[in-house]
Amino acid sequence: MSISRDRAAADRHRLASRSISRVLPSGGVDKRYDLVIVGGGSAGLVSALVAAGAGARVALIERDRTGGDCLWTGCVPSKSLIGAATLAQRMRSADRVGLVPVVPDIDFERVMDHVDAARADSPG
Ligand SMILES: Cc1cc2nc3c(=O)[nH]c(=O)nc-3n(C[C@H](O)[C@H](O)[C@H](O)COP(=O)(O)OP(=O)(O)OC[C@H]3O[C@@H](n4cnc5c(N)ncnc54)[C@H](O)[C@@H]3O)c2cc1C
Repeated sequence: MSISRDRAAADRHRLASRSISRVLPSGGVDKRYDLVIVGGGSAGLVSALVAAGAGARVALIERDRTGGDCLWTGCVPSKSLIGAATLAQRMRSADRVGLVPVVPDIDFERVMDHVDAARADSPG
């Protein structure tokens, strides 16, 4: 695993921990809750945050990675890739606005670093 992939994994862990710490009590788990949510995707996270914000005791149960499809495979990564592809296409077609077009070198490892950074910045 490369250094950038290690950093991305650490960012993902930090993101998941940050999300969980917003809704789980610190210092041990009290088993009495007003609301138990199964699934820490967009729906579960928003529900947990809203309920916790309203004063409810909330347990959020996630079997894999907090953030669900939107953070890991859907909205965030797809829009990051579309953003990079759009920029590359604009560079190729820059002559439309009177600029000298260039064909960008595509470093896919760095494109994926951009995707990982977008995930880390997401409120998830
Ligand atoms: C390519 C792509 C692009 C997308 N782009 C957009 C977009 O731009 N805008 C937009 O609004 N939506 C977009 N979506 C849709 C968006 O990703 C989904 O609507 C959203 O993720 C649904 O959230 P959810 O919480 O309902 O489910 P999920 O994100 O699927 O989360 C469910 C969570 O529950 C967990 N889970 C499941 N069963 C259990 C269990 N038994 N115990 C514990 N945990 C469990 C899973 O591990 C998962 O983390 C896109 C989807 C894709 C695939």
